[in-house]
Amino acid sequence: MKITVHGGAREIGGSCIEVQTEDCKVALDYGTKFEESLRNQFPEDFDAVIISHAHLDHSGQLLSLSKKKPVIVGSKITREVTVALLEDMVKIQSQKDVSYLYDTHDANAIREQWWVRDYIALPGMAIKLHPAGHVAGAKMVSLLSKKKEVLYTGDFCVHDSEILEGCNTEALPNKPDVLIAESTYGGKVRSPRNELVDEFFRQILAAMDRKGNILIPTFAFHRSQEMAKRIDDAMKAGVLPRYNVYTISNLANKITEYFNENKESFTKKIQRQKQPFKYSYVKNLYRTGQIREPAIVICTSGFGHAGASLRLLTEWAEDKNNSVILTSGYLPPDSPLKYAKEERRFRNNGDEISVKAEIEQIELSGHADQLELVQMVENLKPERTILVHGDFEQAQALSQEIEKLTDVWIPEKGETITI
Ligand SMILES: [Zn+2]
Repeated sequence: MKITVHGGAREIGGSCIEVQTEDCKVALDYGTKFEESLRNQFPEDFDAVIISHAHLDHSGQLLSLSKKKPVIVGSKITREVTVALLEDMVKIQSQKDVSYLYDTHDANAIREQWWVRDYIALPGMAIKLHPAGHVAGAKMVSLLSKKKEVLYTGDFCVHDSEILEGCNTEALPNKPDVLIAESTYGGKVRSPRNELVDEFFRQILAAMDRKGNILIPTFAFHRSQEMAKRIDDAMKAGVLPRYNVYTISNLANKITEYFNENKESFTKKIQRQKQPFKYSYVKNLYRTGQIREPAIVICTSGFGHAGASLRLLTEWAEDKNNSVILTSGYLPPDSPLKYAKEERRFRNNGDEISVKAEIEQIELSGHADQLELVQMVENLKPERTILVHGDFEQAQALSQEIEKLTDVWIPEKGETITI
């Protein structure tokens, strides 16, 4: 068996790992990198492509397989959300560039190639999907071929969140020959989630006292719904006072509807509610012009590159009463939010904007931290561990913690390991 890391090596973005045996060739994820060109750099001759979850860094390159038609495998929510995100990508890219290669037929072709399965047998290989936490529908993938077992974590989260159960690591295959693990927070230990949620409410209350606007940039998928639900529930319970609260994202709105119709992916508590993502205090708007200030606005894009989050960041940054709350730990190097947070200024359309608003980062993340990663290696006892999906320093820090337990490899892009 040969394992080649085509993307997501020593970095976050463009995840794609090839597993090749004498009988078949499989890709684990097929993602895009935000800042890279859209030209596909991955092989296309796969028998099957397994998609761990519907974040574009794991699924965004799929359009380039719309003609080759390999089998695509993943959960139902991953399929629906991935196709919605690909359609959105087609819309945005074809507005920017008339010669853009793909159209909505290609996005639909991906839906048609997709098998919603937790188990699939290929020549000489059995593949199984296991719940991963992280986001709705996220899966880990185990492959068994000639008694060699590989477990790929994708992105995963061990602790429960308000809407999603964490990954049950005890149900995963024990002593795999190879564990391919994400290492986003390989060098970081986070505070317990309940403390982070309390801190989040404290920040909101402080900005409310100043009658400020609060911008919460998020992804359209999962984090947006989780955030809206968190604030809505807090207002219902009296933890937060009434305030104008909005979401602005057609895509997030579409995904919210989809969540209401597919409650089985969420916690038992969510499943008991009739329409869990129908909010009492959070309103969906179509344009930033409809906002009645002061307000809390949950909107895309998650890193402030475009859309309502960039517009509101630009409008609200110079007033010290306003607040921006970042809940992702990771910010891409070129993102306006990273500049705003670290340099206290950023650029939009050539204008330089200085930042006086509060910018707080509270990592309500859906990734395992170092303690959870080490714990998983201790429990599973893999022979060998390949670290992907993390900056090199994060992977190295994790490597130091686990090298007594397992052989660790931090591959470069394009490197192959033979088992
Ligand atoms: Zn992810």
